Amino acid sequence: MNPLAGIKSIRDLPIENKKVFLRVDFNVPLDGTTITDDSRIREALPTIKHALDRGARLVLGSHLGRPKPGKTEGLSLEPCGARLAELLGIEVHLPEDCIGDAPKKVIHDLRAGQVCLLENLRFHPEEEKNDEAFAQKLADLAEIYVDDAFGAVHRAHASVFGMAKLFRDRGCGFLLEKEIDALGKLVTAPEKPYVAVLGGAKVSDKIAVVDALLEQCQILVIGGAMANTFLAAQGKNLQASKIEGDKLSLARSILEKAKTKKVEILLPTDLIVAQSLESKEGKVVAADAVPEHHMALDIGPKSLDAFAAAFEGAKTVFWNGPMGLFEKKPFSGGTFGLAKALAESSAFTVVGGGDSAAAVHAAGGDIASKMSHISTGGGASLELIEGKKLPGIEVLRTASPT
Ligand code: ADP
Ligand code: MG
Repeated sequence: MNPLAGIKSIRDLPIENKKVFLRVDFNVPLDGTTITDDSRIREALPTIKHALDRGARLVLGSHLGRPKPGKTEGLSLEPCGARLAELLGIEVHLPEDCIGDAPKKVIHDLRAGQVCLLENLRFHPEEEKNDEAFAQKLADLAEIYVDDAFGAVHRAHASVFGMAKLFRDRGCGFLLEKEIDALGKLVTAPEKPYVAVLGGAKVSDKIAVVDALLEQCQILVIGGAMANTFLAAQGKNLQASKIEGDKLSLARSILEKAKTKKVEILLPTDLIVAQSLESKEGKVVAADAVPEHHMALDIGPKSLDAFAAAFEGAKTVFWNGPMGLFEKKPFSGGTFGLAKALAESSAFTVVGGGDSAAAVHAAGGDIASKMSHISTGGGASLELIEGKKLPGIEVLRTASPT
């Protein structure tokens, strides 16, 4: 099945001179009222510009952070509106609420090719509760619904689910379209050999992903702190390393399952260890010879070579989870090296996960641009890989899938 079956693209919706609600993900990191990384706003520009060029009267909606009930301090979307106005070079109207008379008046006065940004959707607790009346009030603001907020589609909230259902003309923006297409391919028809690489902080975060990948891939590479638990499950003494002691039997059962499914599992054979997270340098040791008081903070060079060799001949590679504490220079070699190997591979390469995407960008050079796809959604991309149907995507299908 084509993962986009039944979902209209904004390209195919009659948005000319119409009031178009565009759900974006402007959930940017803030330091006070200063945006420290505006990538999410810039990534939404192609869809926004397309809508404005075609003469839509554009209404943008987003959440920002997790406001406590009744509290709005520091979580206004005003800084995002100001940044967007700079990037577009036109005025961005900012009504003081997302429902009620304030946005209605602003939207009534919007002309073709003009844009407003509603205030934080989560200032109303009804947003996360997918409250019907609230969804209806949002829907009343526009004639066409477009979703481009991939990072939010795994949540059945009013602005991604409840309101979408109320539009006959609904579909996806360019960002969401690309995400569904790339990640959908991994789930429906990955070209073989398919190699998956998992790492990151914990096994427990990703059990469902491991299960799903064992059904699909031929080689599963495991690194990062996640690998510690697997190595410990094989009886190795990881000393002071981060390990999930209550997940050892789970790790053993995953290794058994891989055998039954004939999936090759690659674990690190050497590690970079240190006595503290603040250590200025690490030491390379064999995975079964971690010295007392030391912890594994990266994969070693032999492991990196073996992992990179697994990409040779691969047609599809999915990577989630850093190979080590890549935020600290002495422990970044495994993660950045893996990113480089992936960039050089001719396979269809997809990177998912917030920290993994950050690592690929931090790896420098043109590494990020050489990936086939870097997913912008953490939770949403993993849930898609697990094979789950996501509410904010399914609700967009206006024709039954073929
Ligand atoms: P993602 O966001 O890509 O899904 P995770 O959130 O699962 O990734 O994991 C990322 C975090 O795991 C990073 O902050 C990284 O420093 C940490 N990490 C990876 N390997 C290790 C390790 N061996 N020891 C300590 N932390 C690690
Ligand atoms: Mg993370």
